[in-house]
Amino acid sequence: MSKKIIILIFIALISAFFIILSSRTKIQNTNILYPQTSANRESLTKEPIDNALARTTKKPFAIKISPNNSPVSPEKFSGYHTGADFETFLNEQEIDINIFAICTGKLLQKKYATGYGGVAVQECQVDNQDITVIYGHLKLDSIATNPNQIINKGQKIGILGQEYSSETDNERKHLHLGIHKGKDINILGYTQDKDELKNWINPLTLIK
Ligand SMILES: [Zn+2]
Repeated sequence: MSKKIIILIFIALISAFFIILSSRTKIQNTNILYPQTSANRESLTKEPIDNALARTTKKPFAIKISPNNSPVSPEKFSGYHTGADFETFLNEQEIDINIFAICTGKLLQKKYATGYGGVAVQECQVDNQDITVIYGHLKLDSIATNPNQIINKGQKIGILGQEYSSETDNERKHLHLGIHKGKDINILGYTQDKDELKNWINPLTLIK
């Protein structure tokens, strides 16, 4: 009698196992009916700053400027802008503004550079293309990651430097984001030769 019960329980367990297995297979099959589209595919990059698209107002990619003709004043640069600038709002001057990695990759460099104050350079692969990303006008001390360490997409890199201080090399408080093609480090914010722009990518074409 007890043997029969054990056999019945065994059969019940086996049937339950197959029922669960077949329902899981059905769920997997339904996914095949809905392949990934651009709408549900994870975007290639993340915004470098909250509300990024509302901030690209003054110096877009490739704009030609000179001290006499610039959207900002005073202006000390001239040439074709190799990146895009993301502005801060008036109420953001005295608070920390976080800057985030737009992609996943190693930090190559963090340093003080003329024209930027603090700058971070990161290498990434986006859409099978090698790029280096330049984050300019950051408070250098706020960059916790060290060179050769990986920064993940969306991870905080640091905060923006204080306006008109050495942290920004006396610029307004804003993010300069440059994306250079290839693995070479080139942090040039402006180029005098328009043809050189072909070695740079308009950040807005990558940021969604
Ligand atoms: Zn800039």
